[in-house]
Amino acid sequence: MNRPPSPHPSPLGGEGKGVGRRRQTMREVNVKMITEKVRALCMEANTDLGEDVLRAFDRAIDKEESPLGIEILKELKENARIAKEERVAICQDTGFAVIFLELGQNVHLVGGDLKQAIFDGVRQGYRDGYLRKSICHPFTRANTGDNTPAIIHTEIVPGEKVKITVAPKGGGSENMSRVTMLTPSDGVEGIKRFVVQRVKESGSNPCPPTIVGVGIGGTFEQAALLAKKSLLRSLGSKNQDPELDKLESEILNEINQLGIGPQGLGGRTTSLAVHILMMPCHIASFPLAVNIQCHAQRHKEAVI
Ligand code: SF4
Repeated sequence: MNRPPSPHPSPLGGEGKGVGRRRQTMREVNVKMITEKVRALCMEANTDLGEDVLRAFDRAIDKEESPLGIEILKELKENARIAKEERVAICQDTGFAVIFLELGQNVHLVGGDLKQAIFDGVRQGYRDGYLRKSICHPFTRANTGDNTPAIIHTEIVPGEKVKITVAPKGGGSENMSRVTMLTPSDGVEGIKRFVVQRVKESGSNPCPPTIVGVGIGGTFEQAALLAKKSLLRSLGSKNQDPELDKLESEILNEINQLGIGPQGLGGRTTSLAVHILMMPCHIASFPLAVNIQCHAQRHKEAVI
């Protein structure tokens, strides 16, 4: 039997029946748009260092006491200028393609598989931008040939937009990163000790001046993600949490007294910033992660 059409058709395709069911508009986004954005962002991130990083170099040049350190910081600025103007990579290590995806809950993705669409964007971006492919099989070391797989961190957020951030991560600085499970009694002093010691032991390996991402709380894996995510914050901006803002300054002061300096050749500017993200943890735990980022602090974003 044919039923008459509902006077209130649901944009979701149903008829909007059911207690408490509300009308929602879903926005369709074709994953091909995501491929295009990821392609462009991979190239942009690898060739165009952010203005916030360039300003941080300037501030460091003003404060640096080592003539060699000042020279290196000026070279980093010049390197960034050439990379931007000539559309060549800021560094030969064009990194693991780390993608942060904020997916609006009112978005309906159409046109294919989201993960594959992102991988296609990475493939195309690294191919068309002449960027080094750096991803390999862990045992055989055979290169995957197209810089995939990418690492994708997806967060479902309110709204009908898709925000994509591409943050290529170099191996040298990633290798110096660590996760540890402190004990609750280690407290804030335990955090400081571990972070400063990590930077000290890293020496010149992560290509200083670095940005030190710190993740506190959550679980083992969440602490690492917080540390990585903290690196997306604009350099020179304040932490929204006054207590963490103070802790960032204190740790940065200690780090910059280590004398490692730009490229590890001595000086005050071992790190440009410490960024902290924190969340609650289990009563028995105190996870702490340090994700070190080199001076090639690359990330670009787009909103669809
Ligand atoms: S750590 Fe950073 S600056 Fe050093 S080689 Fe790797 S990507 Fe380049």
